[in-house]
Amino acid sequence: MELISHAPTSPIEQSWEKHKFELKLVNPANKRKYNIIVVGSGLAGAAAAASLGELGYNVQCFCYQDSPRRAHSIAAQGGINAAKNYHNDGDSVYRLFYDTVKGGDFRAREANVYRLAQVSVNIIDQCVAQGVPFAREYGGLLDNRSFGGAQVSRTFYARGQTGQQLLLGAYQALERQIGLGQVKMYPRMEMLDLIVVDGQARGIVTRSLYDGKIDVHIGDAVILATGGYGNVFYLSTNAKGCNATAIWRAYKRGALFANPCFTQIHPTCIPVAGEYQSKLTLMSESLRNDGRIWVPKQPGDKRNPASIPENERDYYLERRYPSFGNLVPRDIASRAAKAECDSGHGVGPSGLGVYLDFTDCIERLGKQTIAERYGNLFEMYERITGENPYEVPMRIFPATHYTMGGLWVDYNLMSTIPGLFVLGEANFSDHGANRLGASALMQGLADGYFIIPYTLGNYLATAKLGKVVADVPAAKEAVANATAITKKLLNGNGARTVDSFHRELGKIVWDYCGMARNEAGLKKALSLIPALREEFWKNVRVLGANEEFNQSLEKAGRVADFLELAELLARDALDRNESCGGHFREEYQTPEGEALRDDANYSYAAAWEHQGEGRSPALSKEPLTFNYVKRSQRSYK
Ligand SMILES: Cc1cc2nc3c(=O)[nH]c(=O)nc-3n(C[C@H](O)[C@H](O)[C@H](O)COP(=O)(O)OP(=O)(O)OC[C@H]3O[C@@H](n4cnc5c(N)ncnc54)[C@H](O)[C@@H]3O)c2cc1C
Repeated sequence: MELISHAPTSPIEQSWEKHKFELKLVNPANKRKYNIIVVGSGLAGAAAAASLGELGYNVQCFCYQDSPRRAHSIAAQGGINAAKNYHNDGDSVYRLFYDTVKGGDFRAREANVYRLAQVSVNIIDQCVAQGVPFAREYGGLLDNRSFGGAQVSRTFYARGQTGQQLLLGAYQALERQIGLGQVKMYPRMEMLDLIVVDGQARGIVTRSLYDGKIDVHIGDAVILATGGYGNVFYLSTNAKGCNATAIWRAYKRGALFANPCFTQIHPTCIPVAGEYQSKLTLMSESLRNDGRIWVPKQPGDKRNPASIPENERDYYLERRYPSFGNLVPRDIASRAAKAECDSGHGVGPSGLGVYLDFTDCIERLGKQTIAERYGNLFEMYERITGENPYEVPMRIFPATHYTMGGLWVDYNLMSTIPGLFVLGEANFSDHGANRLGASALMQGLADGYFIIPYTLGNYLATAKLGKVVADVPAAKEAVANATAITKKLLNGNGARTVDSFHRELGKIVWDYCGMARNEAGLKKALSLIPALREEFWKNVRVLGANEEFNQSLEKAGRVADFLELAELLARDALDRNESCGGHFREEYQTPEGEALRDDANYSYAAAWEHQGEGRSPALSKEPLTFNYVKRSQRSYK
């Protein structure tokens, strides 16, 4: 399939302005004639639904939680980037653009990233106007801190609860529209299929999580803002409910899936403690502003960290990357931690951990200041590990955190199915092969508040939209499909729990398609995953009934989709014979062990097209050209 990005060719600084001007408009009186379906009420979905409601569209918004306020965005801790240059430390729109393209290892579309950097400044103004309580300096100005991959301080934050505060802002904007009748909210409703009529996205099929009722919702356009698929690894920092079902089922209806293997492993998470653990906890990247990462120089050194003298410690990030030190990007910090642990320097009972130490900054700034900056994170750490990080260094290890891959979208955020738009973590758009910290919140809000309100209007004003009724054959077929999957899951009378399959799948994906990948391992994963999927359908046991609140059934449907998506992820990783960002193929590395790109052959977004059950997906490529940031071997030394 030819992938047309619709990225403007005008000078990049003017391209979004010019593009906006060229987009067709829907006149205010006509907006109320359109029904827009928004699936997801996290930062991207809530921002979109609220903005579209404000514009006068009729919006129906869906989420599977009991309230939009519980979307996974609420978990975001560290902050949100914006090129405000409040610190007067050399930041600019261009620098944020540059850092993001470089941070993503030159695998993102330049025009999208530039626009993201441009609108970042509007996001902060919007959120402040909503009352989001960003941290302030003594004089009253908004405070900033630094995140990985940047040498400036451009991260706005609200202690370690930035996502929560931003989501409360977006939620209030959404609630206002719900109160005005512009948005109808459907909590505890799971989208199970997409309805495509005459090649256009015209609706969704949902299942009520309260009573299992299947419904059809018809609209003029469908927006998916359904988050990332990191839980394909089973253990991740994501909320347990995060899943891929909406985008996966849209993929099976014809939306192309881009760069599924671009997954992010975050360097600072609490290490796994046991085999039956079901969740991992992030310790925000913001901690690397003040904490110093080290391991004992002596392999296997089991001494208490306080009794290891300074000259027997290896502050390996500061040593290897003097310019960026502890604030190198996540892919680099994660691989470095893995290398230390692989060579026997790891700490803690499993040896899979490194220290994140606050002793120096507590001495320098005082405990009170550190508590003000990170108090809630320290408390969380102590509750989980029983150790007090004011006194003992944290132990951290990399864990799955974010997915840069997602449904392919053009510059207008429209997928390959006309009328199907994809926002936030669910799309593949802006982060290339590695996302920089504090850029996901920025992207979700940029998509929802500042991009979709323009680009959706252009689609509606130019598309030919026939009348569609709820019992159109495509809807009936989608209902039959969703019903059949649910029945099949409940009818299986096997012996294994859904979780046991999910855990096994996660181990395969982590072992062969995690922080390091190689051809033999990926081929092994590609033989193990289909076999596990076959066993799942023969041997899974899902308790309870359809007509009740049944979280085992919900989970089973999501794991069934992960069992398919995992195969695409491994296939994509095998197909990309280079290393870039979080995709580290062991065969392709520099003599210093850094990711070695192959720009001549792989400077493209890989977009996969479903070809039907049992058939291999087809690969289409969107070539990536770089006219503003010169491609180079990334260096943070
Ligand atoms: C612990 C943690 C900390 C983080 N900290 C930061 C940070 O400090 N800064 C930063 O920039 N990023 C951070 N991130 C990343 C960031 O939080 C996410 O990328 C972002 O919040 C995703 O927002 P979203 O709106 O795309 O999706 P989500 O917030 O995940 O929302 C998805 C929505 O879709 C709905 N949904 C999904 N599937 C369906 C379906 N089938 N049917 C109906 N509804 C559905 C859900 O109910 C939900 O409403 C962090 C991530 C984690 C895990």
